[in-house]
Amino acid sequence: MRALFQHVALIGIGLIGSSIARAIREESLVREISIASRSGKTLDKARQLQLGDNYSLDLPETVKGADLVIICTPLSTYQSIAKLIGNHLKKGTIITDVGSSKNCVHNHIVPFIPKGIHIVPGHPVAGTEKSGPENGFSELFQGRWCILTPDANTDKNAIRQVSRFWEKIGMTVEVMSAERHDQILAVTSHLPHLIAYTIVSTALNLEGHLREEIIKFSASGFRDFTRIAASDLIMWRDIFLENEKAVLTSLERFTNHLMIIKQAIEEKNGEKLFNIFKKTQGQKKKVIDAQQDMPEEQKIKPQILS
Ligand code: NAP
Repeated sequence: MRALFQHVALIGIGLIGSSIARAIREESLVREISIASRSGKTLDKARQLQLGDNYSLDLPETVKGADLVIICTPLSTYQSIAKLIGNHLKKGTIITDVGSSKNCVHNHIVPFIPKGIHIVPGHPVAGTEKSGPENGFSELFQGRWCILTPDANTDKNAIRQVSRFWEKIGMTVEVMSAERHDQILAVTSHLPHLIAYTIVSTALNLEGHLREEIIKFSASGFRDFTRIAASDLIMWRDIFLENEKAVLTSLERFTNHLMIIKQAIEEKNGEKLFNIFKKTQGQKKKVIDAQQDMPEEQKIKPQILS
């Protein structure tokens, strides 16, 4: 297959960066992969896993000669990375990223990148609660959405190339504004994480014996929240701070609905509760129809050990 890009530089080689490296190697989409990380330990792991061709802690060195740079680091690093690499990119290079909030590219990367470099912000909507290069896998992006948020002045050819890149590793690309992305993800991803952190914190604050019993009987629902609340601390701190406006709006709506349910329980208003639950019940089927989940009977059941 003809390489889509000659030289890709991956800045950050954690769960997402390493999954990209694996996927593009499998598909032979690029000729050369250069990898940068913050610590030597992570870089050594990437080397052991043979994720790239060149490895460096020096970001300017990593992006030298690259025709595609993908930033795969937490959002709070964006500004310092942009300042470091801005003057070391060749004319015509495309920069994209994988960050879970998109306004921050416009705020923290765009001002530090010289003219002649094309910036196509992106978010592959795929992930797990795990971190680090050892947890990446090439199939992570298969059948999932990748959202690109270029602005009106972004080079159309650069958008096409980045779209093809994600499509080649199994994603369906949708283009929208950064604002719209941040509003949607605030509800579909950021709010559920915030709720998981809150529920697990609530359990942690209970008195000793009750807390232990909650762990014992966690399979009744609590377990799923502990999985989400095990997600990377820095990544999620950054997402809530960067998507502050949309997260606070969705949190306010959530709080209002919670108060309606609380009131119905206090008033012993079963009919009201029933009607609220009836409205939400059908949403699972819609998610399955949109191919964002599979019916329970098709999921692999955990083996019961006797
Ligand atoms: P991760 O597994 O924790 O990896 C982060 C990587 O960034 C590590 O290689 C880390 O290096 C590197 N890094 C941190 N600070 C750096 C700096 N200043 N300079 C260079 N490298 C630096 O994180 P991830 O899950 O891949 O997430 C990365 C990005 O993907 C985030 O912006 C997140 O919003 C987005 N995202 C995540 C998911 C998900 O489910 N995880 C899904 C979609 C999008 P060291 O290990 O050497 O410190």
